[in-house]
Amino acid sequence: MTKKHLLFLGPPGAGKGTQASLICESNSYLHLSTGELLRKEVDQKTTLGIQVKEIINSGKLVDDELVLQIVKQNLALSKKGWILDGYPRNISQANSLTKVLDELNQPIEKVFYLNLEEEILVKRLLNRGRKDDNEKTIRTRLDIYKKTTQPLIGYYKDLNILEYIDGDRDLKTISDDIKQKMA
Ligand code: AMP
Repeated sequence: MTKKHLLFLGPPGAGKGTQASLICESNSYLHLSTGELLRKEVDQKTTLGIQVKEIINSGKLVDDELVLQIVKQNLALSKKGWILDGYPRNISQANSLTKVLDELNQPIEKVFYLNLEEEILVKRLLNRGRKDDNEKTIRTRLDIYKKTTQPLIGYYKDLNILEYIDGDRDLKTISDDIKQKMA
């Protein structure tokens, strides 16, 4: 059966958001990107947005508890399935997520780990031109990724749900690969 509870893991710039959007669109899944949701709060200048703006622009991580609340609220909206993109970012978030998903009876079925060489990531991010895509912030985000997010690869590998996806290919080849591995 097609998997419907998925997680996309990988460094900033690997294409997680793009691929998650494509798959969610064709399967009517909820695309739960914590970065997108946080940026929306910033744009709308909500209390939360004002609180996290500087952190996002510096490339550091927003408080775990705060992000967890956003994830919980949005998971409740999902219908056919969901893809988590950009969450969890550290082991503590992964443990909280496991608990929440156990309660919902919706455990993660597969984790797609998209990867690319660091120099390609930096080039891609610089071309993207988001507000937090400047050289200094990019370096911070890559450092945090390596130190705190990368250990999640081992975490999900131990659960036997990790699938490696080579991110250095064209968009369609990658999404076909993911679709095949979701089946
Ligand atoms: P992204 O769009 O995933 O690159 O996220 C952009 C920024 O939002 C990150 O650099 C963090 O500041 C914040 N952010 C997104 N997801 C998380 C998360 N799971 N935990 C903490 N901060 C996050």
